[in-house]
Amino acid sequence: MPRPAKQANAKTRRPRAREAGHHAAEPALQFGSAWDYAPAPETLPVPLKKRYPLYIGGGFVPAASGKTFASINPATGRAHARIADGGRADVDAAVAAARKALDGPWGKMPPAERGKYLFRIARMIQERSRELAVLETMDGGKPIKESRDIDLPLVAAHFFYYAGWADKLEYAFPGRRPGPVGVCGQVIPWNFPLLMAAWKLAPALACGNTVVLKPAETTSVTALHLAEIFADAGLPDGVVNIVTGAGATGAALVGHPGVDKIAFTGSTEVGKKIAAATAGTGKRLTLELGGKAANILFDDAPLDQAVEGIVNGIYFNQGHVCCAGSRLFVQESVYDKVLRKLADRVATLRVGDPLDKNTDIGAINSGEQLGRIRELVDSGVAEGAELHQSRCRLPREGYWFKPSFFTGVTASHRIAREEIFGPVLSVLTFRTPEEAVERANNTAYGLSAGVWTDKGSKIFKMAKALKAGVIWANTYNKFDPASPFGGYKESGFGREGGMHGLAPYLR
Ligand code: NAP
Ligand code: MG
Repeated sequence: MPRPAKQANAKTRRPRAREAGHHAAEPALQFGSAWDYAPAPETLPVPLKKRYPLYIGGGFVPAASGKTFASINPATGRAHARIADGGRADVDAAVAAARKALDGPWGKMPPAERGKYLFRIARMIQERSRELAVLETMDGGKPIKESRDIDLPLVAAHFFYYAGWADKLEYAFPGRRPGPVGVCGQVIPWNFPLLMAAWKLAPALACGNTVVLKPAETTSVTALHLAEIFADAGLPDGVVNIVTGAGATGAALVGHPGVDKIAFTGSTEVGKKIAAATAGTGKRLTLELGGKAANILFDDAPLDQAVEGIVNGIYFNQGHVCCAGSRLFVQESVYDKVLRKLADRVATLRVGDPLDKNTDIGAINSGEQLGRIRELVDSGVAEGAELHQSRCRLPREGYWFKPSFFTGVTASHRIAREEIFGPVLSVLTFRTPEEAVERANNTAYGLSAGVWTDKGSKIFKMAKALKAGVIWANTYNKFDPASPFGGYKESGFGREGGMHGLAPYLR
């Protein structure tokens, strides 16, 4: 039930978290104090550069305008590098270089040779994975244990996986003669900078395309270290071009007449603009957009394991995850128990220096994103939901948000409908499987979902009824290059990963 008295409050002050619940039907939530660990920072230095130029036609070049912008370390809020601000002329040059490579050496290369380049790139990523993981963490704020143990191994795995497909495309599509689509424009977000680059580049190259990639403004650094790997691997000039810049640079790439295909990962809002910009142009398009996934917990599930999965589902990568399990549906009979376990677990999450190997939750990617999270959390309090937060202390500098969850959430609250893209969970309840399905599917998105139960038949029943591209059972946020990923409804269309991920890059 909305509580109007709180609405007025929320306008004048930051919502204060409850450390103990006061909802009549809820148990008192006690956040205990976390264990203390000695600091365990990843050793520096890493080869972070002062300036990062564009990568066009196999060379590192400044933007034609000479303009640069700052890349910020979100854990300090301070600029640590300057990035070339690519404009229309740079996009022109990159598309021309990509076309030349397609008509030249890359287009003429036997597929097995193409595959060798991808295998070589995969191995070089493995060799330099520590350096890339540290840079990813410094530039984007994610904990080093995630960039080191999840992002980088998956980046290499994607190149290995698609390397293997390069000379087997006719087996993937029997009776057909698959050929590349042409020059691909790829625009990626900031939450998994290298991984999103790998998801886009590896299948495109395996299928014989050439690429112009536009990384996100706040996380361009590692894409340019990846460009060094391409150069060192001897990848022919112009096969991959990287043009950094803001949204306008992405829009210039999307609108460029020399581009044959656009692949975009990012917000639904920008995805809609791109769909409009490419409509009627003959350009191929795939969109990987936002999500508001349901994580459904039945009373017969192993509760401790499920709580781990819930925590991973929403707090992994600070909740900057399109498939995050951001709506938790708990069966009413175990609601009190689950809430108590969740509160206990949230209290142990370590928030702080992303370069510390013990850190569970790093920095919010940018000041702008922190503002968006706060605005939505404020709306949750104003609409009458109850906010619970960890007691952890946040660093003074940089961008941070405490791991949080809301109880007393109704389906009409903004925090139940909109993507918060931060470490904030909305907890709802259900009584029957039918009710769970109905409530879970009551969303504009359809990217992912999770089901927790001891009963196999229930898993199959739920998986069939849930309208989401990926459904995890008794686990969450598991990724594999052989497994396709993608959404329904406002979560976009097209699949990345697996054999399905080849189709968008083939004619
Ligand atoms: P975003 O604002 O849509 O930005 C994504 C990318 O598009 C960035 O490189 C951005 O540049 C660029 N861009 C902005 N405006 C553009 C325009 N008019 N034309 C072409 N490109 C443009 O999203 P974000 O805030 O970076 O990322 C968060 C969103 O991405 C979330 O909604 C999340 O769910 C979604 N996401 C989806 C997936 C998936 O696989 N489905 C994966 C990750 C993230 P700037 O960086 O300069 O803004
Ligand atoms: Mg940054």
